[in-house]
Order: sequence, then structure tokens, then C-alpha cells
Amino acid sequence: MPSRTDSPLQVAIIGAGLGGLAAAVSLRRQGHAVTVYERYDFAGEVGASLSAASNGSRFLEEWGVDVKAAKPVILKQLIMHNWSDGEVQSTYPLGDYKSKFGTDYNNFHRIDIHKQLLKSAFEEPGEGPACVLKVNHKATEVDHDQGIIRFENGVETSADLIVAADGIRSLTRDLIGIVPDFEMSTSCCYRCIIGADKLRSLGLDDYISNEAIEYWGGFGINKIVMSPCSNGEVVSCYCFYPASVNNLREDGWNIAASPQQLVDTFPDLDPRMKTLMLNSEDIKMWRLYRHQPYPYWVKGKVCLLGDAAHPMMPDQSQGSCMAFEDAGALGIVFNKNFRENYSVSEGLALYEKLRKPRATRVQEASFRARENLNERIGWSSSADQSGKLTIEEVCGYNMRDHLAELMAGGN
Ligand SMILES: Cc1cc2nc3c(=O)[nH]c(=O)nc-3n(C[C@H](O)[C@H](O)[C@H](O)COP(=O)(O)OP(=O)(O)OC[C@H]3O[C@@H](n4cnc5c(N)ncnc54)[C@H](O)[C@@H]3O)c2cc1C
Repeated sequence: MPSRTDSPLQVAIIGAGLGGLAAAVSLRRQGHAVTVYERYDFAGEVGASLSAASNGSRFLEEWGVDVKAAKPVILKQLIMHNWSDGEVQSTYPLGDYKSKFGTDYNNFHRIDIHKQLLKSAFEEPGEGPACVLKVNHKATEVDHDQGIIRFENGVETSADLIVAADGIRSLTRDLIGIVPDFEMSTSCCYRCIIGADKLRSLGLDDYISNEAIEYWGGFGINKIVMSPCSNGEVVSCYCFYPASVNNLREDGWNIAASPQQLVDTFPDLDPRMKTLMLNSEDIKMWRLYRHQPYPYWVKGKVCLLGDAAHPMMPDQSQGSCMAFEDAGALGIVFNKNFRENYSVSEGLALYEKLRKPRATRVQEASFRARENLNERIGWSSSADQSGKLTIEEVCGYNMRDHLAELMAGGN
């Protein structure tokens, strides 16, 4: 009997980070039966600020995610400071960003937006059937042809479509035959946060009220990237430094460091920023890796998504936006009536064709931006070198138009 054009897919998503949850919301809305499998139980959720430019925020709004409840700070400008005295060297006003690109440029705390995506995926009411969450399910084996996943706890499941959103160290990626070509970056990064009250008491109020991403350095390895989130109650900093300083080998999001360690890494930095560092909390070290683009993202019933597909440097602030775009693409490709036009495997090929070139372009620009701030979208717009990734290209992207072009035979 031919299948109904609207018959839903059984979808299994491996990983409940921002990418996996976004995919769950996007596919739920198309009526699919989605189960998300996460190895942990969220007890140790951590993170600092993440910016969602319009290319990511557009999907959050379309999916009905309660963006306001995620307490964004709406960014108004980028500010470049002199490394040693903090003097403002240059600004890039975001201007009429919303009227140009359709949404605000939101800056979230990772935990705040993660919480809202959890609600959108698993709670009622919501469009489409609520997704099912299985925590403490670590995937250990994936049969991409049969669509079977086995977990460390002995559970086995099958699905029509498996979305591997299991992060930069994706096991599923290995299991579909990809051998990542990667190396340790010559850069490492400290992340830290500080509360608004503390900043006020230190006379650093402007770091909150500027509603900006602010940079110190960025031409060479050393760079500080500071931005407010959580309705302006928290400011977070990413502090990039040469990996040779402490030769960090460990991986993870929870490798703690002290304020003194942080400040000693940057002896000739602006004294105001050093004051912030000495009073900051939750200081974590982050080992960075440089992954070359993978040869493919899809095999059998499995597709890669987010950092599993295209891990990038944080220097374009596009890691989560690219994951949201991947998730948006899955919902658009596997819409309620996709079977009128193609099969699941044809849909997966279309997903890869739609997403891989764009995400690869952003990934490559993130490598260039690691040591050259003029490659970062926004700052790159004023530079005249052709081929640079620009804010217009990233934020003004229309995925549906792109897909229509591909379906009509274009690139
Ligand atoms: C705890 C944490 C904190 C972060 N903090 C920041 C930050 O402060 N700033 C920043 O820019 N980026 C941060 N990131 C990264 C950022 O969220 C991602 O780059 C981006 O959102 C893309 O996310 P992703 O869902 O593809 O991957 P990830 O966010 O890495 O999510 C992958 C998920 O898959 C799960 N998983 C992995 N393997 C398995 C398996 N075998 N079975 C089941 N589940 C599995 C992981 O536990 C995780 O929940 C953080 C990520 C994590 C996980």
C-alpha cells in the first residue's frame, strides 16, 4: 500500500545540546514522532554567552520559542578597544539591524536558551506531537543502513531518520565512516562570567550598558570578547591565548581555573579588564580544535548536525546559529508533505546539499577570524577584500529561496 503523503517519520536525535533540541522542535512542528537521546541528565549544564544573529534567531521565532523568556540582550554595536589601555579604537553600529534582517541580534546565556528549547521540544501545548526525552542514554553503536541505535544502558531503538547532534567529539560521525582531519589549535580560551552588581561596584557599569560585543586585541592569537546576556544581569568574556602558555590537553566544558591564572595570562592588558577578570566567576578553560570540513554528512538513515557536522572556531559567533540553520533545514526538507516530492534518502541528500557549502564557508571564515578580527562578520563589511564573509551574507540569508534554487537545478 503506498504511504500517505503526510505519514510522520520516527526520528531519533542523538544529543540534547542546542543543535539536537532545535532539530527536535523543528521536526516536531512538521508532525514527526521525535525522541531525543542524551548521555547526561543536564544536572551539570554550563555555558556562557552565545549570540544568535538573525540567521539563527529567525528560526527561533518561526518555531515559537519564547525568545523573551531566554532573557536576551539585544546587541546594538560591536566595539574594538585598544589592548593595553582600553581606549575605543573603532565601533560598528548594528543600526537598523532588525528592519534590515528581520529579527534582533540576540545575545543569550547558553543555559537560558537551552531551557527554552527544552520547553519548546517537550512541553504541551506546542505545534505537533511533543517530543520524548531519554536522558542517561549514551549512544554506543549506530547501524546507519538499518536505522538502529544501541545505548550503553542496553536499550536498542530503531528510526526512519537518525539525527546525530552529538557535538564536536561525535561518536556517530566515526560510526558512519568519517575520519576527522583535525589538529589542536594553537589557541586556547578561558571563559568567565561576572554579575552586573559586581561590575557596578567596580565602576565598570559601561560594560553592561553598551549592549555590545566588545573586543580587545584580535590581531594575532590574544583576544578578549566580552558581551552581556541574561537581561544584562551577567557579562561573559572569552579570553583567547596561545596554547603554549599552559599546554592544556584536557577536553570538556568544566575545566576550572582561578582568577589569578586568568589575569596572569594577559600581563599587558587594559587594567579595567584585568579588574573584571580578578573579580570574575566560573572561569573555565576551553581547548580549541581546528577540524577540516568532512567529506560527507549523510550516510544511510543518518545525518550529522551542528558541531558534529561542522565544528568551528568561536570567532564568528556562529556555532549555534549554524546548528539552528541545520535544524531549520531539516524541518523545511522533511515538511509534512515531503513524500510528494522525494524519499527520506533523497531528502537527506538535499539537506546535505543545502547545508554543507554554507556551513563550510562559515567554518572556514571562523578559522580566518581566529587571528584577524577584520574577518569577523560586521567588522568584515568595511574591509574591501573580496571573498570575505559579510554580515549581509550571513544574516540576510533566505533558506527557502536557496532550497527553491537547488530544486530548480541551481547550486
Ligand atoms: C555543556 C556545554 C557548554 C557550552 N558552553 C558554550 C559556551 O559557553 N560558549 C559557546 O560559544 N559555546 C558553548 N558550547 C558549544 C555550543 O553550544 C555549540 O557549539 C553549539 O550550540 C552547537 O551545539 P551542538 O548541539 O551541535 O553540540 P553540543 O552543544 O556539544 O551538544 C552535544 C550534545 O550531545 C550529547 N552527546 C554527546 N555524545 C553523545 C552520545 N554518544 N550519546 C548521547 N548524547 C551524546 C552531549 O552531552 C551534548 O549534550 C557549549 C556546549 C556544551 C555541551
